[in-house]
Amino acid sequence: MIKLLKSLSGIADEPCPAASYNRGFPSSQCPKVFTTLKLKNRHQKTHEPKNLKCDICNAFATNDPSNLTRHK
Ligand SMILES: [Zn+2]
Ligand SMILES: [Zn+2]
Repeated sequence: MIKLLKSLSGIADEPCPAASYNRGFPSSQCPKVFTTLKLKNRHQKTHEPKNLKCDICNAFATNDPSNLTRHK
């Protein structure tokens, strides 16, 4: 996927400080890189504290609203 992005944006192989910006959207907490900002933001939430709790069973906690919706 990284190779594909690289050829699409026409980046040469020589090291360039700006090249990383064109490779995708890297997580600020781990080495993962994502192809879209949406995916990156979604992943980024996994590094945040789980502050959403199920108000029905009180045993389920997550930081992803869609996870909570699925749980209920
Ligand atoms: Zn990460
Ligand atoms: Zn629950």
